[in-house]
Amino acid sequence: MDFALTPRQRELMDAAREAYTRKLEPLTKDKSPAGVIKMRRAMAEQGLLGLNMPTDLGGVGLPLLDTVLVIQTLHACHPMCGGLAHRTSTGACGAIEAYGTPAQREKYIRGICTGKIGISIGITEPEAGSAATGMRTRAEVVGDEVVINGSKQFVSSVDTNDFVVLYCRFGRTGKGSDIGAVIVPFDAPGFSRSNGTVNMADELLFELYFDDCRVPKENILLDGSAFGKLISVYNAERLGSISRMLGSAQAAYEYALAYTQERRQFNREICDFQGIQWMLAEMRVKLDAAQLLTYRAAASAGETGLPDALETSIAKVYTATAAKQICDDAIQLMGANGYTKEFPLAHRYAEVRGGSIYGGTVQIHKNMIAARILDRRISQWKKD
Ligand SMILES: Cc1cc2nc3c(=O)[nH]c(=O)nc-3n(C[C@H](O)[C@H](O)[C@H](O)COP(=O)(O)OP(=O)(O)OC[C@H]3O[C@@H](n4cnc5c(N)ncnc54)[C@H](O)[C@@H]3O)c2cc1C
Repeated sequence: MDFALTPRQRELMDAAREAYTRKLEPLTKDKSPAGVIKMRRAMAEQGLLGLNMPTDLGGVGLPLLDTVLVIQTLHACHPMCGGLAHRTSTGACGAIEAYGTPAQREKYIRGICTGKIGISIGITEPEAGSAATGMRTRAEVVGDEVVINGSKQFVSSVDTNDFVVLYCRFGRTGKGSDIGAVIVPFDAPGFSRSNGTVNMADELLFELYFDDCRVPKENILLDGSAFGKLISVYNAERLGSISRMLGSAQAAYEYALAYTQERRQFNREICDFQGIQWMLAEMRVKLDAAQLLTYRAAASAGETGLPDALETSIAKVYTATAAKQICDDAIQLMGANGYTKEFPLAHRYAEVRGGSIYGGTVQIHKNMIAARILDRRISQWKKD
């Protein structure tokens, strides 16, 4: 067991930070969809997309642990960069890389790694949030096409992306075994979307509508019996989003640490007060613990595999909670300045707050941890 980062990992993190300072920082000013797409292209030029995607498809070919380290580093620099690194590395592309046909892998993974296209994930429905296997959106193969009916909600990045990996049912049993996935372009006939709902972190979340939506049969990624397969890949996606929470917690901690050494009250720096010192110490303990759990889960994937589900859930529950507390304490340490939008901490807090909800809520992950440690299958469904 070696807890030290390797020289290569430190180099990767330094290079990401340097690319941010030299090339990317000026692009963070434009947060419009066009600005995000411009940033995506600039990050592709810097080799910061598709971090764990195969090199023969234009990716960087990093193991999951190194990917997590780079996402955290970029997210600490700026959430726009961390978000793009995450979505193009362990996001929807993970399922395509793992289960796509050679043609799908070539088209979509290469498109993502070069920054030309973006792909969202559509799982959540109005009646199927935590109970994801209760989803109703259906796909039916008719001749050479797939006809899709249903809707999704709370889908991220639809205004900057071009496709969605849509989780949907291929059968009528109502069981998890019906669930598969189809890649749907946003210009498909029968597809439409809402204008988006603004969340706490000023990001848009979209509703997607499929009304006899038709796509070619070649767009099927998995045609049923695939929920377990999709979720095993989705654990890598979860670690990507956990790394973003780490990045925000790290940024908030570093910001507050510097501020407490500059801000003076009672004719002394506020870090002279023991009450402040203990807060800083607790923030650092939580940040280190969250990092170690996340890196352990990522390391369980080895060079090319998938992360352990139990270790991923443990990292998720701890980091989501710790990141919230660290950002909250950082705001407290900065007084009214921390609470204003002039400083980045209010946004960092709003952003990590979502981490307890997306990718499976903290409660759902505790259910999964309990099932594993009790070695039982604990169904949450009420029996008729
Ligand atoms: C910022 C953000 C981005 C998102 N992006 C996407 C996206 O790109 N694509 C996508 O498909 N979805 C996305 N989502 C949706 C997200 O996956 C869902 O919000 C999440 O699965 C929870 O579903 P819900 O909101 O319907 O809550 P509900 O399932 O209604 O849960 C409400 C509350 O009940 C609790 N609860 C429910 N069941 C249980 C149980 N069995 N045991 C204990 N507690 C329980 C939950 O923990 C929660 O506290 C995003 C959400 C957010 C906040």
